Amino acid sequence: MHYEGMLFRPPSEAQSMLIQVTTGCSYNKCTYCAMYMDAEFRLKPMEEIKSDIKEGAGYRFKRVFLCDGDALAAPTAFLEEILDEIRDVMPFVERIGVYGEARSILKKGPEALKRLKEKGLGIIYHGVESGDDETLKAVKKGATAAQTVKAGQMVKGAGLLYSCIVMLGLGGKKRHVQHAQKTAELLNAIQPDYIGVLTTMLVEGTKLFDQAERGDFDLPSRLGMLEELKIILEALELKRGLLTSRHSSNYLPMRVVFPYQKAEALKVLTEVLEKKDETILKPDFLRQL
Ligand code: SF4
Repeated sequence: MHYEGMLFRPPSEAQSMLIQVTTGCSYNKCTYCAMYMDAEFRLKPMEEIKSDIKEGAGYRFKRVFLCDGDALAAPTAFLEEILDEIRDVMPFVERIGVYGEARSILKKGPEALKRLKEKGLGIIYHGVESGDDETLKAVKKGATAAQTVKAGQMVKGAGLLYSCIVMLGLGGKKRHVQHAQKTAELLNAIQPDYIGVLTTMLVEGTKLFDQAERGDFDLPSRLGMLEELKIILEALELKRGLLTSRHSSNYLPMRVVFPYQKAEALKVLTEVLEKKDETILKPDFLRQL
């Protein structure tokens, strides 16, 4: 396989064949992110991609994930050619996923998204991180909450599955409550199929790390992160959907099927917070991004 640099994929794509179609991230400005800091964004040569699809076919994976960060930013015709090739060479593949940011989703527009769906794209993972405009601006996310809602609704309108990633603690102590409340509002407006919860970690080399070193940014405490999750869960009104906090950055792994398991999940969180029992939380040295 023609893999370059570190590859990242959502936890739920752990059993997927990874086909790298772009390198780096087309944006690369979020202050908390170190994933593609040293990587240049570019399209991989089509002959390399097709060769990887041919090689990958031998493993008969049922799912494919197109890497890297924000690969949806690639031109639609380029992605269509890749999806056609996967359908021809791997007819047994049941779902194809990709990361997409608000900018690339909105730039694609409803028609291109529908075409990608028809060609076999199944799910878009979107790191929305927060619904709080102050937080989004502070971390240079490059999209407002309103733009994010529009992008999410566009993906769902195209008939694609939509998975939102949100980050506990991203507003710091300063926007602790607002970050959680506004994030729940954003999720309610979009009604994603899946919500993946991550917990902010300060990664050396990022702007957020430097801000924390200077005392300009304070992460909430470990229990403070769970308070944010509780605020989100309490306010979340999903008609159907799945929220998980099983990413390795989280202190408490949870899996909540909406609407049925919301009350039980809140009970668990409330108990942990009331007892202030940190012994059941994942130790920091086991957390990773
Ligand atoms: S968080 Fe996503 S959009 Fe932001 S720099 Fe990292 S990969 Fe790019």
